[in-house]
Amino acid sequence: MSDAAPDFDVLVIGAGFSGLYALHRLRQSGFRTRVLEKAENVGGTWFYNRYPGARCDIESIEYSYSFSEEIQQDWVWTETMPAQPEIEAYLNFVADRLDLRRDIQFSTEVVGMTFDEQAAAWTARTGVGESFTAPFVVAASGILSVPLEPDIPGMANFAGTSLFTSRWPKEGVDLTGKRVGVIGTGSSGVQLIPVVARDALQLSVFQRSPTYTLPWQVRPFEPGELDEMKARYGEIRAAQREHPIGAARLSAFSVLLDMLASPPLKAAPREDQLRAIDENGILGALNWSDIFFDIDANRMAAKLYGEAVARIVKDPETAASLVPDHPFACKRPIIDQGYYQTFNRDNVTLVDLRKSPIREVTTTGIRTENESHELDVIIYATGFDAMTGALSRIDVRGRDGRSLREFWASEGPLSYLGLAVAGFPNLFTIQGPGGPSPSSNFVAALEQHVEWISDCLEYLRANGIRTIEALATAQQEWIDHATSLVAATVLLHPSCNSWYNGGNVPGKKRMYMGYTGGIPEYRRRCDDIATAGYTGFKLA
Ligand code: FAD
Ligand code: NAP
Repeated sequence: MSDAAPDFDVLVIGAGFSGLYALHRLRQSGFRTRVLEKAENVGGTWFYNRYPGARCDIESIEYSYSFSEEIQQDWVWTETMPAQPEIEAYLNFVADRLDLRRDIQFSTEVVGMTFDEQAAAWTARTGVGESFTAPFVVAASGILSVPLEPDIPGMANFAGTSLFTSRWPKEGVDLTGKRVGVIGTGSSGVQLIPVVARDALQLSVFQRSPTYTLPWQVRPFEPGELDEMKARYGEIRAAQREHPIGAARLSAFSVLLDMLASPPLKAAPREDQLRAIDENGILGALNWSDIFFDIDANRMAAKLYGEAVARIVKDPETAASLVPDHPFACKRPIIDQGYYQTFNRDNVTLVDLRKSPIREVTTTGIRTENESHELDVIIYATGFDAMTGALSRIDVRGRDGRSLREFWASEGPLSYLGLAVAGFPNLFTIQGPGGPSPSSNFVAALEQHVEWISDCLEYLRANGIRTIEALATAQQEWIDHATSLVAATVLLHPSCNSWYNGGNVPGKKRMYMGYTGGIPEYRRRCDDIATAGYTGFKLA
């Protein structure tokens, strides 16, 4: 790096929910900020994941920014849980309202970042050879932003159309009259499958791991309902702020909290168990407190869940194939609008990959061990290299040229508070490993991160401090603490292969990557650390 003054005070990578708020907040604090965004527009998750059925699992009035009374009053949500187009439109509205675009450089991928210790500044390099310098970088690059492409032999040979839910074409895709195969039955697959089934001539669902779902009714707001809520938005936001998951209204996570307060399954007589599924279907099968802590209770619930599924799915073999064999709760809960009913349609077939794994993709479809499926379209709903994926795709070089990618690959996804990594000064991560996002409303979690980071930068500026770096000891203590919170739960069970623990990515070092103490407790800890002069960080 030359002796020239840095180009900016802060570089922000990404223009999704996190990057947009970071830009606004940092600008308000008087920092010269530039956002570098790979995509051609704002939105992040909601720019890319425009597959049919994509929608949020938190209510719109809570899955939205709380920092601006003007924005929350002016934006109009039409449904209880918004679909992708509405969330994308909302983020565009925010970008325009706050005049954010003038500081965002779109179609710009950061491919490398090097910290110059003498200059105490980062240089970020882009895919087209530009470089930008700034003392600080805020990685708002998303924790579910790097699609996981499966390594299935022959994928490139398919002569039909190959699609990823996580990179759905902007112009849409007409699946009418097509023979469609979907690989993947996580959250994206469960949302997509019922919608595709309505259009496609034939839908084959290639299922490796059956999933648990929470049936859900999404509905448009009644006339006046949104206005009534807006009139007491302050109250709604206050409740949300004090809630462990950052959403006080009904959500997939609030259902889990209700389960925690239910009686234990192991003590329940058979007639109580049956009554639970008589009254509440598959939700009744899961509504027991001990299933989070006792793997045997969890397995009992899976069996009961299978009985409830068999009441919906008419074909007994298909129903049996839909029963999960991993513990409930070790993956993010999935909301479902008619998922199991879809398997009663004449044009839908479940291909159980546990019985007959995929051997290859051919030019005309998918061949499993036992049979061939002729297809016009293959949709991959195969998930993400979560939490560490985006930063590991960038060649990040910290102190002494240390590589972040190599550090995380060899030591595991370590981070202090999910905000910073030892050895990488002046680099802040929004929703990094060990933060509360995985088990909460992401928007509530990321707002807290953005605010803590910008307050920290103001403190450094006010005190003439040039570098801040997490201490390795504090980092290890934090990760040990976060892990201890889930030690007694089924989340660490070896059969849990989830993005929560990296088990969904072949070869990734396994470690639980969330913080389950709740956002208010997390915020309190972060605030205490700041008030005490940033304990666990080295300031220089
Ligand atoms: P993102 O939205 O992922 O944005 C990151 C941005 O960084 C992207 O635009 C990306 O292009 C950019 N970027 C990454 N790397 C680079 C680079 N090297 N150079 C330049 N730019 C880069 N959360 C919930 O709480 N509730 C939900 O219902 C919910 N639904 C979801 C549905 C789907 C399909 C997915 C994938 C995620 C969902 N999430 C949900 C999580 C969601 O990711 C967050 O809620 C939120 O949108 C994250 O915002 P973000 O800005 O932190 O990250
Ligand atoms: P996911 O939950 O990781 O699911 C990926 C699916 O693909 C799994 O069923 C997986 O099977 C399967 N798969 C992967 N590779 C495969 C292969 N080679 N062969 C066969 N099957 C394969 O990913 P996701 O559905 O995209 O969801 C990720 C996260 O994004 C969610 O947990 C959630 O946080 C967020 N999200 C939220 C919503 C929402 O409700 N609002 C919607 C979409 C996404 P295995 O389980 O066997 O690996």
